Amino acid sequence: MNPFTLVQPETLEEAIAALATDDASVRPIAGGTALMLMMKSKLFVPEKLVSLHRLPANLRKIYIDESGELHIGALVTLRSMELSPVVSAFDPVISDALRTLSNVRVRNVATVGGHLAHGDPHMDLPPILMALNAKVVIGSKAGSRTLPLMEFLLGYYTTALQPGELITEVIVPARPREMSGAYLKYTALSADDWPMANVVSYLQTNEDTIAEARIAVSAATEKPIRLYDVETFLKNQKLSAEVFADAAELAVSNLRPLADIRGSSGYKREIVRVCVRRSLERIPSSSMSDHGGFTHE
Ligand SMILES: Cc1cc2nc3c(=O)[nH]c(=O)nc-3n(C[C@H](O)[C@H](O)[C@H](O)COP(=O)(O)OP(=O)(O)OC[C@H]3O[C@@H](n4cnc5c(N)ncnc54)[C@H](O)[C@@H]3O)c2cc1C
Repeated sequence: MNPFTLVQPETLEEAIAALATDDASVRPIAGGTALMLMMKSKLFVPEKLVSLHRLPANLRKIYIDESGELHIGALVTLRSMELSPVVSAFDPVISDALRTLSNVRVRNVATVGGHLAHGDPHMDLPPILMALNAKVVIGSKAGSRTLPLMEFLLGYYTTALQPGELITEVIVPARPREMSGAYLKYTALSADDWPMANVVSYLQTNEDTIAEARIAVSAATEKPIRLYDVETFLKNQKLSAEVFADAAELAVSNLRPLADIRGSSGYKREIVRVCVRRSLERIPSSSMSDHGGFTHE
């Protein structure tokens, strides 16, 4: 790895000032789990990094505000999120998914800000946070802006972050009452390999009728996506195996996954179809489920 200068600001303002430069290789470093791999393989050769480690404790806070929104500071580690009773009470789908994210050594240091800024479409939290309509708060010399995660994740390893910008917080709006979900990830090679498909489904039900559905898919797609046409199809339908199977069919009707070592495009479509159906069946409120939450196929 090439030598580089490590700047260690103590305030958010100092960090933003250190990042405000014309040199595009000057980047923040949080947990370093993604950045260090890119530097070791010389994919990324920076001369200067801005460490976020000494920034104030408010960037490591998790809390729910008076309107019921969950706030997660950018420097909250994935392990703190996983163990947080606030997060598991807010949505156990998040906590359950985190338990299977990589290994505890990575989760101990990786941060939620670094997780989202990395823009890797295989990662676990983005589809779940997207289905929950999460927003990303971004700070820069110009002030602060908030973007829906949908608009933040632009493509393969591509986000809306501009040079000199830092994620400071992730905000997750409260779910409608009676809405619960299930996350399913499918790995094609070994159990700890990157997933070939991630699918998360949420249903809000009124007795046996679907009042609202939310479905997001990633890993098989170049970025996490919401399946709005499937969500519209499910609305006002009665819960049934046939409806879930039809929804799964619709989910892949326009999906064109990229082929790679984990499978051909056609194979991935088939996996997504099965995962959409199974995730819907496994939602506790779907009444067809013997267990909800997370499943690793
Ligand atoms: C062995 C291994 C296995 C993994 N397995 C999984 C897995 O199963 N599932 C999964 O979801 N993920 C997995 N990951 C990816 C992991 O989730 C990410 O590497 C991690 O979340 C990145 O967070 P970080 O704090 O370490 O980011 P860093 O490596 O510090 O930074 C990553 C990127 O984000 C930028 N950045 C960091 N913080 C901010 C900020 N606040 N604002 C703006 N930009 C910022 C950096 O400049 C860099 O471009 C794995 C990683 C490793 C190394």
